[in-house]
Amino acid sequence: MTLPTETRVLIVGAGPAGLTLANLLGTEGVPTLLVERNPGCVPEPRAVAIDGESLRTLQAAGLAETVCASIKQGFKADYINGDGVQLFTTDLTARPYGYCLQNSFDQPTLERQLLDGLARFSCVTVAHNIELAEFAQDDNGVTAALRTAQGTKHSVRTDYMIGCDGGRSSIRQSLGIAMVGDRLPQKWLVVDTVDTHLGEEPSCRFYCDPRRPAMTIIRPGSERRWEWMLVGDESEEDMLSDDRINALLAEHTNPEQVDVYRKCVYSFSAVVAERFSEGRVFLAGDAAHMTPPFAGQGLNAGIRDVRNLSWKLAQVVQGALPQGLLGTYNLERREAAKSVVDLAVGLGDQIQPTDAQAAAERDAFFAELNTDPVQAAGFAAETVAPLSDVRLSEGWFVEGGTGGRMLPQPEVTGSNGPVLLDALLGTGFTALLTGGNQLPAHVSGHPLWQSLSPSLCYMDDVVGALPASSLAEFTNSDSAGITLLRPDRFVLAQIAPGADASTSLDRLQEMLVIQDAKPGAVGMEA
Ligand SMILES: Cc1cc2nc3c(=O)[nH]c(=O)nc-3n(C[C@H](O)[C@H](O)[C@H](O)COP(=O)(O)OP(=O)(O)OC[C@H]3O[C@@H](n4cnc5c(N)ncnc54)[C@H](O)[C@@H]3O)c2cc1C
Repeated sequence: MTLPTETRVLIVGAGPAGLTLANLLGTEGVPTLLVERNPGCVPEPRAVAIDGESLRTLQAAGLAETVCASIKQGFKADYINGDGVQLFTTDLTARPYGYCLQNSFDQPTLERQLLDGLARFSCVTVAHNIELAEFAQDDNGVTAALRTAQGTKHSVRTDYMIGCDGGRSSIRQSLGIAMVGDRLPQKWLVVDTVDTHLGEEPSCRFYCDPRRPAMTIIRPGSERRWEWMLVGDESEEDMLSDDRINALLAEHTNPEQVDVYRKCVYSFSAVVAERFSEGRVFLAGDAAHMTPPFAGQGLNAGIRDVRNLSWKLAQVVQGALPQGLLGTYNLERREAAKSVVDLAVGLGDQIQPTDAQAAAERDAFFAELNTDPVQAAGFAAETVAPLSDVRLSEGWFVEGGTGGRMLPQPEVTGSNGPVLLDALLGTGFTALLTGGNQLPAHVSGHPLWQSLSPSLCYMDDVVGALPASSLAEFTNSDSAGITLLRPDRFVLAQIAPGADASTSLDRLQEMLVIQDAKPGAVGMEA
């Protein structure tokens, strides 16, 4: 394969973050080079849960149908104590964004599907057995020194470089960006099995047993993941022995009928990079944050990063919006990634206590909570809120109304039958209009509106088939308003009937100028 000497975007690392980003940029027609030091996809099944927001992103990349055919959609997760008493349950089967909130999947299968998906794009080059050796950036771009497995060197010039190079990211280290947070002391034995004997239940269970915290989750194809925490002075070697694993399995199933195809001991980190970008170099996925797996969010947070970054890169590379837009990536993703890590740490605090007193206090808390079904439901709803009510806390949107919230994705009636809403919205910016209103001239003539060039979607055309309340808040459906959506389906601005849209559009333009002027921003000296 001939490597290009110039590209618009260089992605380093073909894990799930890099592969998803390459697919999204391919969809946008952005010339992209993806390099990976390994010869192919990694066979290790690390992540087991992919969330509905990630599937919506794969829908945007044209891969949701393929991926959904190989996953188990939706499950309930229950948390029980050492006596088998249920502490709480989270129902992850709702589909506010078109897909179940959580779904079990196989990471190597997903990575192969993403890699195969890249064959669709002539603008994307994928190069395995090639690593990034070093790089230097200036105001106009990044020069990257690549090296093949045989030691051959190759230089490539790119407008932007994205480090999707995993938790040990050499790009992050070269930029001098520290990870803030902790490496957690607990170790977990992770065992992947094929078990036709046990069946589908429990679909996902956390055993919050102070004698040995554990979890299990059903996976596609009669597979099941088990995880057991190491306690006391147990050694990794002991835990990985067949006898020990069979003894642990025997509490739940017949070990003789179980095929253990992978076993490994992991410890986890709860860390977030100090910043997600420096000049023209951006970090995404594990390179930017790592979380314990209790909320099933490591890979999903990485997919959220690249969804956020991809359309911004496309807009800037294609000259539609100024570089300041890229400054909003750090603003929008860093705090969001931190709150996901905090959520996982909080769940870990419920699951992992080995101290009898701490476990008894936890059990008493939930016993009290469960005497009031409304409170118990509130707790469960709060736990899944990051998946079921997705919103930006800060960034490029106008506050007020539904500004900064993700648009729900119900099923609607398209010309050939039912489709998910996004299929009718186009891929770029979209303006949802209600009441058959015409776009006022001061809106369509505004310079930012012209740069965004949104597709117009008249909600009356699709709304008839919608569940009554599902989009009402988002479309001002009782009046003639405009809901302006970003390509990633977050609301950029909700413009109330009669409001002067120029105020919102001016504000959005100013934000991009402010971002461009920040230290470390693209095109500025770091
Ligand atoms: C036991 C376990 C359970 C988990 N469960 C879940 C879960 O249920 N849900 C979830 O969302 N997440 C989960 N995760 C986390 C998830 O697996 C990771 O967050 C995800 O794999 C990270 O993807 P990535 O693309 O950011 O990085 P990686 O998958 O680490 O990919 C980085 C790639 O960059 C390449 N690379 C590095 N340096 C260079 C270089 N200089 N040049 C070229 N290539 C380079 C590497 O070879 C690698 O292929 C779990 C993790 C573990 C360990």
